[in-house]
Amino acid sequence: MTDVETEIEVQVQKGESNMIIVMERSATQADVAAVVSRVEGLGRQVHISEGEERTIIGVVGDGRPIDREAFELMSGVEKTVPILRPFKVASRDFHPKDTVVEVNGLPIGGAGVVIMAGPCAVESREQVMEIAWAVKEVGAVVLRGGAFKPRTSPYSFQGLGEEGLRYLAEAREATGLLVVTEVMAPEQVKLVSTYADILQIGARNMQNYALLHAVGEAHKPVMLKRGMMSTVEEWLMSAEYILSHGNRRVLLCERGIRTFENYTRNTFDLNAVALLKTLTHLPVIADPSHATGLWELVGPMARAAVAAGADGLIVEVHPNPEEAMSDGRQSLKPKRFQELVEQVKQVAAAIGRPVLTEIPAAARAGSDGRALRGAR
Ligand code: PEP
Ligand code: MN
Repeated sequence: MTDVETEIEVQVQKGESNMIIVMERSATQADVAAVVSRVEGLGRQVHISEGEERTIIGVVGDGRPIDREAFELMSGVEKTVPILRPFKVASRDFHPKDTVVEVNGLPIGGAGVVIMAGPCAVESREQVMEIAWAVKEVGAVVLRGGAFKPRTSPYSFQGLGEEGLRYLAEAREATGLLVVTEVMAPEQVKLVSTYADILQIGARNMQNYALLHAVGEAHKPVMLKRGMMSTVEEWLMSAEYILSHGNRRVLLCERGIRTFENYTRNTFDLNAVALLKTLTHLPVIADPSHATGLWELVGPMARAAVAAGADGLIVEVHPNPEEAMSDGRQSLKPKRFQELVEQVKQVAAAIGRPVLTEIPAAARAGSDGRALRGAR
C-alpha cells in the first residue's frame, strides 16, 4: 500500500471504531447496563446521554474497529451509527440535547442569554470595582478582566498577576458577579482556580495541549476561545481535549478570525456561531469586542450574535477607554454598554429568549459552597 492508501485505511478504521448506539424507547435499564458493560469490556469509553424519549450511548474508540452488528442484536438496541467526525464527546451526535453549563448556580446554554463584561485587563482595584458595579447594574452576570495578559509585545503591560486576581475576587464578593479570567500556563491553573469561577483559555493558547490537559483536570468551567487562525474543527478538537480529560463544563467563545480584511481587527465568524449549534451541544459565547476591534461595531455584532443563537456575550467595558492599558479602541463606556444590553434584550425577546440578569435565587449559594453576596 502507498502511504496515502495506508492513511485512508487508518482513517476508515478510526471512523468505524466510534459509534453511537441508539436504544429503543422501550429499552430497560438492564438493557442499557448490558450494552455499557459490553462496551467497557472491549476497553472503550462510554458516554451516556439520556434524552426524554431514549438513551444514546456513545462509544469512543481507540482506532480498532468495532463489530456494530453484534451490538444491534442486543436487547433494547434500535440501531448503531458510526461517527466519522474526529470530535466525539463534543459532538451533538453523542449528546443531542444542549449542554447547560452550571457556574455556581448560573446556567449557561439554557433558555437564557448571559452577558459577561468588564475591562480587557485588571488595572487597579478602583477600576475593577467601578466597572463591576456599572456592568452589574445594567444586567451583566459575569465580570471579565485579565490578570495574566497574553500580549503581542513583551514591552506591553502584562497584567497585575495575582494582585489582579485578588481584585476580581473582591469585586465578586461585593457585587455577586461571577468571575471569568484568563489562565495562560498549566502551572497557573491552580492559582487562577482559587479566584475565578470560569477559566478562560485565550485565542493564542487554543492549541496549547499541556494547558488544555491541565484545565481538563480542573474542577472549574472553562471558556475556550477560538484560535485566531483555527478552523471550527481544530477548535472542537481542542474542546475534545478538555472534555476527554473529564471536565464537561466547556464553553466555546467565537472571537473573530484573521482574514485579509484589515479595517477590522478580526473578522467575526458569525457562521461559526450558527454552525456550532448544529455540530456540538456545548454553549456558544460571542466576543464582539475582539472580533471587531472597534467599539462602534460591538453593539451591532452583539445583537447579530444573539440573533444567530449565541448563548452569551463577553464584552469589554472600561470607565475611560482612552486611557485603557489594553484594547481601549474596542472598549465600551458603561453608558454605551447599557444601551447594548437594552438592545440585546430586545433581540433576545424576538427569538423567545430572556437575558439572565441575575443568578437564579435558589442557587445563590455556589456549587462549591461559597455564598454569593449582592448587597452593596
Ligand atoms: C481577552 O479576552 O482580553 C483576550 C486576550 O482575548 P483573545 O484571547 O480572544 O485575544
Ligand atoms: Mn482584550
